[in-house]
Amino acid sequence: MKKTFKGGIHPPDNKDLSKDCPITGLVKLPGQISVLMSQHIGAICKPVVKKRQEVEKGELIGDSEAFVSAKVHSPVSGTIKDINLRSHPVLGRVQAVVIEPSEAEPACPPEQNSFADFSEDDYTPEQINEKIAEAGIVGMGGAGFPTGVKVGPNPKMPKETMIVNACECEPYITCDYRVMLEWTDQFLAGIKLLRKASGCRKCYIGIENNKPEAIKLLRERTENEENIELSVLETKYPQGGERQLVNSVLGKVIPTGKIPPMVGVMVCNVSTAAAVAEAVIDSAPLTHRAVTVTGKGVQKPANLYVPTGTPTEHLIEQCGGLKEEAVKVVLGGPMTGFSVGELQTPTTKTTGCVLCLTKEEVGEAKYLFRQTPCIRCGRCLSVCPEKLNPTKIAHAVKADRLDLAEKHNISACMECGSCSYICPANIEVTGYIKTGKIRIARANKDMPA
Ligand code: SF4
Ligand code: SF4
Repeated sequence: MKKTFKGGIHPPDNKDLSKDCPITGLVKLPGQISVLMSQHIGAICKPVVKKRQEVEKGELIGDSEAFVSAKVHSPVSGTIKDINLRSHPVLGRVQAVVIEPSEAEPACPPEQNSFADFSEDDYTPEQINEKIAEAGIVGMGGAGFPTGVKVGPNPKMPKETMIVNACECEPYITCDYRVMLEWTDQFLAGIKLLRKASGCRKCYIGIENNKPEAIKLLRERTENEENIELSVLETKYPQGGERQLVNSVLGKVIPTGKIPPMVGVMVCNVSTAAAVAEAVIDSAPLTHRAVTVTGKGVQKPANLYVPTGTPTEHLIEQCGGLKEEAVKVVLGGPMTGFSVGELQTPTTKTTGCVLCLTKEEVGEAKYLFRQTPCIRCGRCLSVCPEKLNPTKIAHAVKADRLDLAEKHNISACMECGSCSYICPANIEVTGYIKTGKIRIARANKDMPA
């Protein structure tokens, strides 16, 4: 029996558009790169450079003294043109260091030689932790939690098991899949370093069964590894949700309101593991990542090696531009990503996908906002991986009964979007829940009004 969790949905994965596209460098660099000072969960960094200053590739440009934060480095050599507000995929407008590159050529994906001969015995856990923190590594699957904080010792929550989230369960996205196939040495080196730094005894690579090539390759490469095991999971969304992943791989249920470290588990993303290897072995800060540019609305889907801070528009141009039928551009996947109104919005360390959708892909009814009343079919209940009653929460928010929404456990919603996807009445159930959460946070003064 395939390992899985209860609930979830099976949207068309549409990964064929880009899954066979190797990761390639950009053809040319953009005229300006806007490196946002907030690319992670935690304190926003302050620029440590000044306007008109020259910077080297990899130089520190943003830092914070807060415990939960991640340093920011320049992805290119060049001149600081501006330090000003720029649009952020999620947070509105955020301070950015704007750099005009002086380099002629964009960087190529990392060579694999240094990772093939590596041994984790050459490093102590403290050395690994220090390098991870210095490199400004964050969870690259979307959440952006600083990896140095996650991996570091915590006597209150000792880590026993590590799970590498290799599901890539959101439709369309293929960058982690290509990383596993092409940067295999680097990926495996990162896993070993993370395991050593965190003190975990055992590591599982949780991967969906729609990636047979990666499964075959990783099985060959890990068969002699005592503490690294492949765990093949059913292809189902959101298989890569942390709580669902822990349940599918280990059979452990994380109680509502708790997170994996509270049950001794550390979850880490594929690209994050690769970045850790680069940081420790090559002393390279996190300034580039693989990004999938895809959807039926872009001319030539691709997987690109992208400097952080690249305008979305530049990546679309590298892929031949938008098709006439394109109606929406999303940063991230179709289930949890954020649609961008401004194509100048720069990528961040957590941007794994630029998704260019047509009206057909968005869905005619959703595109035209054709919602009909709830028919109480209960489908949203049956797919909710958190066992919530999404329609009750949405109705409570609509009726401005935030007390009721809290009673129905609105805070436990992981915003996976499954309820909106399945709803035959085209109700944006997740949208109501997100709005409700913001209103509750504002009422509690956790968020500015
Ligand atoms: S209520 Fe939240 S967790 Fe449940 S399906 Fe909807 S978005 Fe996902
Ligand atoms: S899936 Fe849609 S129509 Fe069905 S109960 Fe949920 S909100 Fe109502």
